[in-house]
Amino acid sequence: MQALMLPDALAPDDFGAPSRAHEGTLALPTMPRLSPLLATQEGQVWARLEGGLDEAGRRVLEGRIEASVPLTCQRCLGVYHHQVAGAFRVVIVATEEEGEALPDELEPYVSGAAVRPLQVIEEEILLALPVVARHSGNDCGAPEHGAGVEREALSPFASLQGRVRRQADD
Ligand SMILES: [Zn+2]
Repeated sequence: MQALMLPDALAPDDFGAPSRAHEGTLALPTMPRLSPLLATQEGQVWARLEGGLDEAGRRVLEGRIEASVPLTCQRCLGVYHHQVAGAFRVVIVATEEEGEALPDELEPYVSGAAVRPLQVIEEEILLALPVVARHSGNDCGAPEHGAGVEREALSPFASLQGRVRRQADD
């Protein structure tokens, strides 16, 4: 994959017409608020950011992010990867008050003169994380990849039960 760089900061000049797009990847462990939540210090996020001005002359940042975030499943304590893929659109404001004054449909993002992509992207990832991290469905509790071990895996007798699995009779 080609290594692309996101700028450390977007200056006011980066929001103009025509809008400018930046694309690149960031390492998840470099994000100070996200890092402590990671099951393993690895992974990266791909992001595409585009700064522009709306009809009222406000700075608007539109973006897409895609990441595979390693989290600890709270059911089996195994590591799983939570997939994040989403788009966002925020209006850059200088103060909370300015943000509250925006029309309801606009989402404010409070920032200094320079907007830091890493912080915006980290915020979006944090918003996309589940309240309780856990595997989905049958993926949970499988000591061997995809071995079909189900909920009984929480029981100390799980390994025995696993060998005498019955067919589902419904
Ligand atoms: Zn699990």
